[in-house]
Amino acid sequence: MILHHTYATELSELVTKVQPKILNNARVVAINQSLLSQLGLTQWQDKPSLLSALFTQDSPLTQHAVAQKYGGHQFGHWNPDLGDGRGLLLTEVVDPSGKPWDLHLKGAGQTPYSRFADGRAVLRSTIREYLASEALFHLGIPSSRALCLIASDEVVYREKSEMGAMLIRVCQSHLRFGHFEYFYHSGQLEKLQNLFNYSFKYHFQTCATAENPYVAMLIQIVKDTAAMIAKWQAYGFNHGVMNTDNMSIHGITFDFGPYAFLDDFKPDFICNHSDPQGRYSFDSQPGIGLWNLNALAQAFTPYLSRMEITDILQEYEPNLLQEYGHIMRAKCGLEPNHANNSWLINEWLDMLASEKKDYSLLFRQLCEFNPKEITSKLRGNFIDRPRFDKWAQVLEQTLSQQNVDKTQRRLGMLALNPKVILRNYLAQQAIDKAEQGDFSFFDELLAALSQPFDEDAKHDKFSAPPPNWGKELEISCSS
Ligand code: AMP
Ligand code: MG
Repeated sequence: MILHHTYATELSELVTKVQPKILNNARVVAINQSLLSQLGLTQWQDKPSLLSALFTQDSPLTQHAVAQKYGGHQFGHWNPDLGDGRGLLLTEVVDPSGKPWDLHLKGAGQTPYSRFADGRAVLRSTIREYLASEALFHLGIPSSRALCLIASDEVVYREKSEMGAMLIRVCQSHLRFGHFEYFYHSGQLEKLQNLFNYSFKYHFQTCATAENPYVAMLIQIVKDTAAMIAKWQAYGFNHGVMNTDNMSIHGITFDFGPYAFLDDFKPDFICNHSDPQGRYSFDSQPGIGLWNLNALAQAFTPYLSRMEITDILQEYEPNLLQEYGHIMRAKCGLEPNHANNSWLINEWLDMLASEKKDYSLLFRQLCEFNPKEITSKLRGNFIDRPRFDKWAQVLEQTLSQQNVDKTQRRLGMLALNPKVILRNYLAQQAIDKAEQGDFSFFDELLAALSQPFDEDAKHDKFSAPPPNWGKELEISCSS
């Protein structure tokens, strides 16, 4: 095991040292064994040793723990007062292949950046984060990972009293758009420079040797952000709080709040109960991605001209559309590299939207598309059958010209259209049971989400659309 503390030591002016504060009767309730092995952290595979490493002052896991300072644009407004208010960067781990990863503890207690809040996280939100980050990862959508969930008997007050919990999460780094924005907007240009130097040294090494490292780095962030958001749109994921402090410079999904995977396809769906205007609605996400990149790009202005920045940002939309089109064609069984099937995809989405059909379920049924079967299950979903038949006819003609073996096509589609997604009503059941001390539903759901494309009858109970009580659950922003 190799533990590093490069951020804590090389950027010590940008952090505050803080030790995690124990929770009453803390206990490890979930460990991601495969991720632990992948990181080479086998000594923490049993629960007592992990717990003791976490709550022993100055253990190898905690001795360099720090809270990071950052700011962020929240709902369009600049806020310089953010930072790790309840999270700590514990350590960096170098995996057996030499790649570094951050271990971050969420819910660790107050820090100098907690403002008026308690520094804690509740079991409800840590379960939601654990499940979502693993679900996205297994769908092939870049995301932070969940390493370990700690429950407790600590009472934490949100709208009501809840159970305190902690989550250790893992990602390449916790560098957010808001880190760069903060040092730029506060005029601390030397610290900004140090942050860029650090980023080139540890995370953007290939950019560091480019003709203009800043150009190369911004291009990379634009590309990765566009690819991530294209995947959110293709798989029906609504993040819900795309503030720039929640945007990773690695283009990975992180900082999960009131997110949702779509049930019925409503393009303007808003998962965040605290966002009545829909700034972060499902169909606003691509545009907000660009807004956020513009905000980040401000921090590049000491190094790049306006013209250079504009040219780079202009690549965002074509990047996103290319990636989105590629995935959507493949999800529909169409040749992914042919860009001329947009009518088929748009019409399909329009039919789903106008008849409010379940997004993931119908894509899964589309894998079984058989034009010869006039009474197919897929067709049976639609009220406007003439419209469906016209669309199906064009699809059939297009597919017949593709010269791809039907079985191969079906298998390819099944590998891209999940049987199991993390619907809010499923997450809610996992939470309700866990709050009673029963993690069996959480474990089973997690297992199903870890093989989302498998046609395994064991997972049937997780593949159903929501019952009436589970439709449009209001997810609180408090976590
Ligand atoms: P979030 O909405 O979780 O992305 O957090 C926004 C900001 O509020 C960040 O600076 C967090 O560190 C801080 N924050 C959120 N919840 C808490 C809490 N319970 N205690 C302290 N700080 C918090
Ligand atoms: Mg956040």
